[in-house]
Amino acid sequence: MQAEVTGAGFREDQLTAIEAGLNAMSEPDARVVIVDNFVDTVQRLTQNPAYSAGRGAGIVAAKTIHTSTGEVIVFNAPELRNRDNLLLERLAAHEAGHVKLGKRGEGVIGRQHLVDSEWRWLLMCLGALAIDELRIERGLADLGYPVAMTGDVDYIDEAMFWLNCELMNALVDPASSDVEKFQGAVMSTQDWLTKHLAYVAAYASSPTLDLSALSSHSRQNWDDYIAAHWGKRVAFYENIPDVRTALDASELDSILLSAIDIEADLLSSLGFRLSDGGHGQGYAFRRVSSDSQCARRLQRAREAFALRDSA
Ligand SMILES: [Zn+2]
Repeated sequence: MQAEVTGAGFREDQLTAIEAGLNAMSEPDARVVIVDNFVDTVQRLTQNPAYSAGRGAGIVAAKTIHTSTGEVIVFNAPELRNRDNLLLERLAAHEAGHVKLGKRGEGVIGRQHLVDSEWRWLLMCLGALAIDELRIERGLADLGYPVAMTGDVDYIDEAMFWLNCELMNALVDPASSDVEKFQGAVMSTQDWLTKHLAYVAAYASSPTLDLSALSSHSRQNWDDYIAAHWGKRVAFYENIPDVRTALDASELDSILLSAIDIEADLLSSLGFRLSDGGHGQGYAFRRVSSDSQCARRLQRAREAFALRDSA
């Protein structure tokens, strides 16, 4: 491993754990950067000053970045310093999966020519990022690593709570009278949701999940938003190989084109649709859920929120 450290770094046993993770994924020479100032480092390496580390309900612990000189794994040292070594090893193995995909060029970058509209491209990007996570997590499952926190049933419970809250927030937010902002809010929810579903699918050995541990509100959200979609996603994911098996360009193209339909299906379960616009318009973003459906969802979000507030 080629490690570069700025700040306090990790202990020797922690570095050994990271090394074990890279080795498990057969990427022993991956470039690793361990920093105390994670956000600044990612902003610099991605040349994206807007990058921030908050994501969904958690904080980003590490990120693999594609640079002109190859893939670099950046570890957020303050987030990780007090975590156990198995978590660190697992995280390193996961990021090494991103290194693998990056080195082989198996991602959405350079594939915009496959689609003829901006909204299909948006959905393809969402779908492709989730497929990256699926392929990596499937590899980790096969290597015997325990399920990630974000793939666990406890996390589904959290995710279903936040899913309904975020969508209902977007619906009632006055800022959503600007359709672009409304769409942005909904799509950023779908962005974390679809990755979460990929994490769950990677470890789900049967299409029927055991959701008995879910709270009643979260179970209702799953049944309302996800249940009818889940089987389609699992069937689609079934034939996608884990990260250790390379896909040739035409295989990946066809997978990513199908991913558009899967993400459109999820978006419609969430109550929205993207489609070609009318004459002279780029594309349209519409709500397809009925007013009464939205009223029920809003009521449920308020109840679930009040319940948490009083707990
Ligand atoms: Zn990942």
